[in-house]
Amino acid sequence: MNLQERDFFDETPRPKPAQLVCPHCRQPNQYALMWIERRKKTALPARADAEDRVRFAKAQSYLVRRDDKVSCLNPRCRKTFEISGLQTVVFL
Ligand SMILES: [Zn+2]
Repeated sequence: MNLQERDFFDETPRPKPAQLVCPHCRQPNQYALMWIERRKKTALPARADAEDRVRFAKAQSYLVRRDDKVSCLNPRCRKTFEISGLQTVVFL
């Protein structure tokens, strides 16, 4: 059986600030968005086969954004909006 992505990476939650503008009230605010850091492991498990080794050699550490919606911080708005114009994956 082939190894899964989680056998290649260690996962760590990483909050990152982002400046977003609410599409409802147009107010810009700083939001702490949750990302998951997938840091490439230093070694593969012993059960890795030749194909896994090739995949692992090509693998790169990256951040993937977990939040795709936020609630507006403006107390008079508080509406939920989708995050747009922001990357969902960042290679490290
Ligand atoms: Zn708003």
